[in-house]
Amino acid sequence: MGDIRKAAVIGAGTMGAAIAAQFANAGTPVLLLDIVPAGAKSRNALAEGAIAKMLKTDPAPFMSKSAAKLVAPGNIEDDLGKLAECDWIVEAIVERLDIKQDLYRKIETVRKPGCAVSSNTSTIPLAKLVEGMGEGFARDFLITHFFNPPRYMRLLELVTGPATDAALADSVEKFADVRLGKSIVRTKDSPGFIANRLGVYWLMLGVIEALDAGLTIEGADAVMSKPMGIPKTGVFGLIDLVGLDLMPHINASLGATLPKGDAFHAANRDLPLIKKMIAEGYIGRKGKGGFYRKTAAGREAIDLASGDYRPVQKSNLREAEAKLGKLLSFDTKAAKYAWRVLGQTLSYAASLVGDAADNIDAIDTAMRLGYNWRYGPFELIDLIGVDVLVEKLAKDGFAVPAFLNAARGKKFYQLTGGKREYFGADGVYHPLQRPAGVLLLEDIKRTGKPVLKNASASVWDVGDGVLCFEYTSKSNSLDAQNLELLSQTIDFLPKAHKALVIYNEGQNFSAGANLGLGLFAANIAAWSEIEKLVTAGHDVYKKLKYAPFPSVAAPFGMALGGGCEILLHTSAVQAHAEAYVGLVECGVGLVPAWGGCSEMLARWAANPRMPHGPMPAAAKVFEIVSTATVSKSAAEAKEFMFLKADDGISMNRDRLLADAKARALALVEGYAAPVPATYRLPGASGAVAMGIAADEFRRKGVATTYDMVVAGELAGVLSGGAADIIDEVTEKEILALERAAFMRLIKNQGTLARIETMLTTGKPLRN
Ligand code: NAD
Repeated sequence: MGDIRKAAVIGAGTMGAAIAAQFANAGTPVLLLDIVPAGAKSRNALAEGAIAKMLKTDPAPFMSKSAAKLVAPGNIEDDLGKLAECDWIVEAIVERLDIKQDLYRKIETVRKPGCAVSSNTSTIPLAKLVEGMGEGFARDFLITHFFNPPRYMRLLELVTGPATDAALADSVEKFADVRLGKSIVRTKDSPGFIANRLGVYWLMLGVIEALDAGLTIEGADAVMSKPMGIPKTGVFGLIDLVGLDLMPHINASLGATLPKGDAFHAANRDLPLIKKMIAEGYIGRKGKGGFYRKTAAGREAIDLASGDYRPVQKSNLREAEAKLGKLLSFDTKAAKYAWRVLGQTLSYAASLVGDAADNIDAIDTAMRLGYNWRYGPFELIDLIGVDVLVEKLAKDGFAVPAFLNAARGKKFYQLTGGKREYFGADGVYHPLQRPAGVLLLEDIKRTGKPVLKNASASVWDVGDGVLCFEYTSKSNSLDAQNLELLSQTIDFLPKAHKALVIYNEGQNFSAGANLGLGLFAANIAAWSEIEKLVTAGHDVYKKLKYAPFPSVAAPFGMALGGGCEILLHTSAVQAHAEAYVGLVECGVGLVPAWGGCSEMLARWAANPRMPHGPMPAAAKVFEIVSTATVSKSAAEAKEFMFLKADDGISMNRDRLLADAKARALALVEGYAAPVPATYRLPGASGAVAMGIAADEFRRKGVATTYDMVVAGELAGVLSGGAADIIDEVTEKEILALERAAFMRLIKNQGTLARIETMLTTGKPLRN
């Protein structure tokens, strides 16, 4: 099998429809088939309905509305023949062996040889799925287990059988990695693979140990999260998120398929409370609520003893704030709970090496990506210490798997010459291999020192003449120091390097300017300091734009305010598909003042789709910026022109740095800095028109009184101030307008109230 040019997904339910959407997000045409429902007007009703529903779902399965056009709805009776054109067919229908095999037989009558067929099954072993299906089928068949929701969950478990063609599996893996953006973990053909088997075991222990210990669910979730780097949903919050109704199915299947001696059975206790909750529709967030629920009176939690709801109690447990090692040394109810759940989970994880997974890295990756754990089980064991864990397990009568014993006196991961190695099932260390084309700053940092550095940023040599500028401030916010280091980098780079990449591996690319510092300066009326920072930002962003070498910004997650403006000033952008980009300054009562207005005006004015004259572009930028629009993907960021049409998008987060570096290097030969644009802006009458548009929003109740003040300032900048419609306006003049408007706003109490609220609550104030 070569490239995958066309795909099909069969089963347009929760998973199938969203997997099809991810193919479309990757730009691959995909057929989405389901059965013909009895009595429906359209024979494609199920697939059509699924697409229509996905266009309204939030968080959205589609990265842009236009991606939906790549999904062709159909049904397995009329469109079966179309499967002959496909290179990969994903089956995501009901979890029943007979129904799946019946479908496979139909697929076999039409598919071309070498077309991969994969099942999204959570529980049926591959050996069962291929039984009696014939050699050709077994050769082209594998399991690709996506997690819900497939766009956002990075994990994909891949299972092959003894007969699966290795090259075919490699092609599927490569496509799923590079094009669908998934991190692939190869697992063995064992029940529940890795993530469900270990994760469900952990969740079940989390429930039964809390019941036995008489803990509140808030207490259990607090102690079972922060100390281990687990999301704050802990156990009960996570069950609410995935749905209580899914638990009995997975438990029953694991219960039926795992061998007698497996530790899972002891944790798979019958829980009348959960049964009752499911029966009454309390299945979690998608139902009326679950262990937690929201009511008009506030958040409520289930009392485990009575099964009744009561107001949520803040746990205030000191255990929940402790470091992991310390937590395990406490002799309290909550600490013992944490130990019993974690200790047994880690022991179980060790027992899965060789059974569900080839090595510890597969298990750690599955748990990090499948459950958003900061550390995988074996990284947690290293934090505790193998010997400490083994002794504690033995003391409490818990199982100590042979593999854990074999690691006594060692660590599961070690560094050799800056390279990470893992302890293998064979008792020796092996280097951790990154897939080809994956470059991580994390790895580069282990082997060297930064080229330049201050308290808010570092610069790394990422090879081949490329430097990487990394923010290191809190939330990667922008401040005087990282602006200063960027300026130094621009002077330093041409001496021995060719290109710059702006990238980091934090939670988000950058949350924008450090508002806390801004508010502090405003409170002591340090206006000249603030103006200096605004000017510094201007100056360094323009210095970057007009530098003699190419620069590429590589945003992912949030790139807001000043973190968006920097993207507007680099030669090109290589964005992760999940980049949420926006000029959000108006939300905190400001206007973009590091060139955001001038660059957006230039982009929209150059857009061939815009009607003629200076007003349409200015009005469009006004609409985007005054409403603090943030894109919900990189594809959408292109629609708002935060990114240019030819900017690159990397689907896989781990490939972003390598892709950005390649893009920067491709720009080196013959690179010429851009020439400053000149502008024609609509002038005073344009500002009036924008004011009328904003007032319309106010009358509809969408815009507030203070929004009108901010919008007025923004309109002043975007219309070119006092300029006449026939005047040519320079970039410098617009920057001066940006700065003046910003300085007037930051001195306004309305703006300060907005900043303060944003800093204390994380939410915008609608004054
Ligand atoms: P679902 O019930 O939401 O959807 C199943 C769809 O398959 C329905 O639209 C149904 O009409 C269709 N279907 C049934 N028989 C069919 C047939 N013979 N031909 C064509 N279509 C048929 O189920 P789901 O949750 O999307 O699960 C689908 C598969 O994915 C299952 O194997 C499940 O184990 C697995 N899975 C589910 C999740 C999850 O969180 N829901 C996660 C991972 C894997």
